Amino acid sequence: MNHERSRDLYDRALSVLPGGVNSSVRATQPYPPFVARGDGAHVVDADGNRYLDYVMGYGPLLYGHDAPEPVQSAVQKFASEGPMYGMPTEVEVEHAEFVARHVPSVEMIRFVNSGTEATVSAVRLARGYTGRDKIVVMQGGYHGAQESTLVAGGPENPRPSTPGIPPEFAKHTLPIPFNDPAAAEAVFEEHGDDIAAVLVEPILANKGIVMPVDGYHQRLRELCDDHGSLLVFDEVITGFRVGGLGCAQSTFGVTPDVTTFGKIIGGGFPVGAIGGKAEIIERFTPAGDVFQSGTFSGHPVTMAAGHEYLKFAAENDVYEHVNRLGRRLREGVEDLLEDRAPEYTVVGTDSMFKTVFTRDAPGSFEDHCEGGCRQRDSCPRFDACPKTGADVAAAETGRWERIFWQEMKAQGVLLTANQFESQFVSYAHTDEDIEETLEAYKTAL
Ligand SMILES: *Cc1c(COP(=O)(O)O)cnc(C)c1O
Repeated sequence: MNHERSRDLYDRALSVLPGGVNSSVRATQPYPPFVARGDGAHVVDADGNRYLDYVMGYGPLLYGHDAPEPVQSAVQKFASEGPMYGMPTEVEVEHAEFVARHVPSVEMIRFVNSGTEATVSAVRLARGYTGRDKIVVMQGGYHGAQESTLVAGGPENPRPSTPGIPPEFAKHTLPIPFNDPAAAEAVFEEHGDDIAAVLVEPILANKGIVMPVDGYHQRLRELCDDHGSLLVFDEVITGFRVGGLGCAQSTFGVTPDVTTFGKIIGGGFPVGAIGGKAEIIERFTPAGDVFQSGTFSGHPVTMAAGHEYLKFAAENDVYEHVNRLGRRLREGVEDLLEDRAPEYTVVGTDSMFKTVFTRDAPGSFEDHCEGGCRQRDSCPRFDACPKTGADVAAAETGRWERIFWQEMKAQGVLLTANQFESQFVSYAHTDEDIEETLEAYKTAL
């Protein structure tokens, strides 16, 4: 493969864009493939190389790079007729009605422009609604680039995880390990009356994909109920990906008070949203007193794309297709690992997948959770399957990034470049693509 044009473009980019990119994860080594165009499940780079793509925009592209026809025509119509007004439109009402009809926790919704903006607004809303300051987050959880959640350490010593955030801000955030009910109980015991919300991804999806252990979310629900705190599910990545149109909350049977959305809900355009019980969401201005506003919020092109995206999924075999291929891929990788690297762990659910390069696990796959770790406690591999963000971080991250990812790319398969980010199967992927991908895994593992 020739990469001259990507290299030259990166050279230029480094002079005018910090790190040569507009979002940190994109700066892959030695230089990222600059994309010229997408084509179904593939992307073509500036040098004409064609890759099977599992990055899928880091989550939004449920259909791959060719949106269904109704999405494309809606986008064109709304882009050419507007593209935006700063006044309400019918399409945002339709999109809100659709989401409220399908997602258990949502009666009302406010649309914004990114997942980050959604979590920022959700935290402000929870604080305004409860009159309390503290929020509980999961270590290794990700809620976008925002002040209240870029916090490391534990409940006793929270500290900003990046320069630029005053330590005083971090004091109001209490990070605990995911999947550890005792740690959640302890933090409520100590701070219960001051906790506005628990903010949790139903599945840790930005740290290797970690499924919840049995009963974990139910316990968080009880603790929030007992202490008058809000349970906020960050479904920016799992929303309309895991659990189909009901989202991950329908899979786990736990209804949060507030849900944040992003990615798929905008049909490939910039989006975020905060949904939940009307009584809570109506605290946003102008219905209530918690300030929230945005020039581009409810952008007609985004609303039209998102609405047609979800409608198409409701009327076609979309989730059946992507979930079947996701499972086939995860099972296929497990078969390869059994011979080649039984210490590694396949994680993921529905159309999400990743292989975590864990350092030890039983040599056998007998009686294991097939098609990705389910945290079934009778599984012989249960103890080795990552439970927390720290477990994923302890894996062979360097090997993934420096060797494995590069080899997959050389074979024409684009995965996410670090050990932490999930990968996605789209509606454009085929059984043949999965076969080809497994062949590449066979060579690279
Ligand atoms: C992607 C993501 C975000 C941030 O969304 P942006 O649109 O990138 O700001 C927040 N939370 C979760 C769970 C995400 O996956």
